[in-house]
Amino acid sequence: MIIVMKAGLAEDSPQLRQVVSLAESYPGVRTEVRRIQGASRSLTEVYLLGPTGVVPVAPFEEFESVEKVVRVTQTFRSIGRHDGGLEQLGFDYNGVHLSQDTLQVFAGVCAVDTPENLEKTFKTLQQLGIVTTRAGAYKPRSSPYDFQGMGAKCLPWVFEMAGKYGIRIVSMEVTHESHVGEIRKALTESGNATGVMLQIGTRNAQNFELLKAVGQESELPVLFKRGMGITLEESLNACEYVASGGNRRIVFCLRGMKTNLGDPHRNFVDFAHVPVVKRLTRLPVGIDPSHSVGRRAIGPDGLLDIFNVTAQGVIAGANMVLVDVHPEPQKALCDGPQALLLEELPGFLEDVKIARRAYEERRARAAGA
Ligand code: PEP
Ligand code: MN
Repeated sequence: MIIVMKAGLAEDSPQLRQVVSLAESYPGVRTEVRRIQGASRSLTEVYLLGPTGVVPVAPFEEFESVEKVVRVTQTFRSIGRHDGGLEQLGFDYNGVHLSQDTLQVFAGVCAVDTPENLEKTFKTLQQLGIVTTRAGAYKPRSSPYDFQGMGAKCLPWVFEMAGKYGIRIVSMEVTHESHVGEIRKALTESGNATGVMLQIGTRNAQNFELLKAVGQESELPVLFKRGMGITLEESLNACEYVASGGNRRIVFCLRGMKTNLGDPHRNFVDFAHVPVVKRLTRLPVGIDPSHSVGRRAIGPDGLLDIFNVTAQGVIAGANMVLVDVHPEPQKALCDGPQALLLEELPGFLEDVKIARRAYEERRARAAGA
């Protein structure tokens, strides 16, 4: 059971203590008070843990200070909406707002290679007014003989350069707990030139110890990629490991499923799940068209498959697009075949805008406007 307190209640208020002590008067029931950042307001929520099935709702609803009482209906209790009972979680990080109502494009390189390539990429982003990017330093590769990423040594110049070109957030995959410390250290040493969103890759979606570690983070947000070979429900429960650790600054990202049924795409595109995840969880939902499609195939209408699937996700309300670009994809050390050219980025952004406008019109129509 989750008790949502009315907004503006102080942490040590007697009203909150009253609710907590009533809850703890039921045998075996413990509480956790959580300060939650909603999309537009701060909330205090009291989580009742233990045998709550027999705890009645009515006595709590009678408190003047209680906004509502919500029965937990999903195992992923911190990120779940519980049949619409809880509102979305949004968050501000380094000047960027992410929520179920916003849309950000994170365009950048799959893997950091040379300073020249990164600079060309960041320059283009700045010209286009984009302040969110991706840049992999730690790469989980299928073969141990493939390029494994530049690792910690590239972080100082990557962050410094990001700051120089006005980048506010770099989405960067971590594959081991120690990478979080390396990133934090380099960020501090750069004078916090930029911000980092810790990306959990699809291969680590059920690396529970890593999930617990990023769950301890109180500042850096997390981009959680769904597992490519597990159910959506399993991915949501895995994502709950991050939130239950205390870090609720999470974007849940769809990136396609591993199955030959998706051929000739690299993965079977699952962007029909954008509204599903928005309904089931309180989290902003991202899409990764690059790792879903995996190639620069183009349709007879002149639209790249990557553009088409992005439009599918955005028209259904996606909040973040993570897309690979590279100044010279044929020379990229990782995932070159799926990278957009820098010259293609303006057209891509226009296409995203068209799809977003269509989503907003569809939403207004549904609301009867
Ligand atoms: C990536 O975004 O660089 C990546 C490896 O993606 P995924 O974990 O979805 O394969
Ligand atoms: Mn990649």
